[in-house]
Amino acid sequence: MKIVAIYARVSTERQEEQKTIESQICELREACKKDEVEIAKEYVDNGFSGGVLARPGLDQLRDDASRGLFNAVYILSPDRLARRYLYQALVIEELKKKGIEVIFLNKAVTDSPEDQLLLGIEGLISEYERAKILERTRRGRLHRARNGEIMGGSAPYGYDYFAKTKEKAAYYKVNEKEAEVVRLIFSLYLKFRSTSKVVKSLANNKIRTRNSSKYWSKGLIHRILINECYLGTTYYNKRDKSGGKQKIRERNDWIPIKIPKILNEEIFKLVQKVLKSHGGGKRRRIYILSGLIRCKHCGSRYIGLSSNNGRHFYYRCGNIVKRFPLPRNCDSRPVKAEKIEGAVLDTIKNAILKPQILVNHVSRLTKNLLEKGNNAEREKERLLSKKKNLEDKKTRLLELYLEKHIQMSDYLEKKEEIEEKEKELEKKTEDVSYSTPYIDKALIVQNVKHFSELAKERIEKLQPCELQEFLGYLIDEITFDSNKMEAKISGHIPITKTTGDSNHNSLFHFPPDLLGETSNKKISFELDVKV
Ligand SMILES: [Zn+2]
Repeated sequence: MKIVAIYARVSTERQEEQKTIESQICELREACKKDEVEIAKEYVDNGFSGGVLARPGLDQLRDDASRGLFNAVYILSPDRLARRYLYQALVIEELKKKGIEVIFLNKAVTDSPEDQLLLGIEGLISEYERAKILERTRRGRLHRARNGEIMGGSAPYGYDYFAKTKEKAAYYKVNEKEAEVVRLIFSLYLKFRSTSKVVKSLANNKIRTRNSSKYWSKGLIHRILINECYLGTTYYNKRDKSGGKQKIRERNDWIPIKIPKILNEEIFKLVQKVLKSHGGGKRRRIYILSGLIRCKHCGSRYIGLSSNNGRHFYYRCGNIVKRFPLPRNCDSRPVKAEKIEGAVLDTIKNAILKPQILVNHVSRLTKNLLEKGNNAEREKERLLSKKKNLEDKKTRLLELYLEKHIQMSDYLEKKEEIEEKEKELEKKTEDVSYSTPYIDKALIVQNVKHFSELAKERIEKLQPCELQEFLGYLIDEITFDSNKMEAKISGHIPITKTTGDSNHNSLFHFPPDLLGETSNKKISFELDVKV
């Protein structure tokens, strides 16, 4: 008994007009039954144009043809095989060489081969040869890729390409120098969250592209950031160029090829999330506490991220970024963005609406500062007497030298030692004077109340980005403890030289000439938050 295969195809665009796949298969099965042949396998391309030969079902049929699974193929009509005569001829000839006969149930062709032949036999033959070569290489490449062979000559940045030899297939090897830059790019991006800042940073560090004369561009950086190959798999057959316009194929059709890994998955996923939250522009969320939260356990900043396609937003300890490329060493849990933002905003609003809260906090802090201030005065005096001591020593030393008790070289050496110490003292004295706090309580109360009044009017009307700016100005840092779900806000209110003047509407403008003319002193405050 003859063993055959059947092949059916239907294209999406004309599905209604044509027979459905089922009816095609049905017809073919019946014909086989009538001819008393056995069907070894059925090959189906559902939703594929006959204008190209790159179809999974047909590819499989042609692969199986070499393996002797069948010795004839049943097809409804030539145009099911291919729309163009020359493609039909190509496949028919290829199968014929393998001893496989092609049987069409219906010879009536829609695109007449005779018409095609009229184009001139010579032109047809050359086109035929060209198509044949194209086809061979395309299918040959698919086959080689399936066997894990690298296709195409140039390796992605981070790898070197080694062409195939008699002994070995082509492969990529990690280029350590470039791989280091890839890791740097990923960590810089997580730090700055902007491709242009990564570009700047690379330029500042004189790191160039592979083509060493060139600087990095934003596009290049982006392509590196989304390139999955750094996780150890590159893909062949990803892009479909057959329709003129290039498009990405379904992921199922990609052929994975193993290559050495350069990044760990966690850092790659994190970058994809940040890219997603930044990119597209449609669902971009403003993290109003961005850059303000610090992890109580490890000291890293929290970073804002989204998950589940931008349906959930949260802040998460950036330990992995800080430690990169070492693994993370902090177990802080992420916190829902709405939760911590709500808690912080409520606390700030409450403090603004009831300035007494702020004043009390400020008073407490001021008391501490006052004590520190007293200490500073004492420290200043101590340093001053030390300085006097050194001057005395220097005078004595000079006397000793003049009286010829010591050598000139000894004198110079000792003198230098003393002068070194003097310099150190001077620096310490300067530091102490800097930290002298602002302690005029009446002015503090006045300032806080004035600030509250201005802020009260505006805070409810602020847009997220204005709110982010405002909080960034007011808050120095939020220390967050994810175990206790507690946070401490430390911040400051600027002190104005002229208070009570309510014409200062520049409060929410940035960079601020905030409440009128500000002095360089500030009122610090601390607030506890239950998240
Ligand atoms: Zn941490």
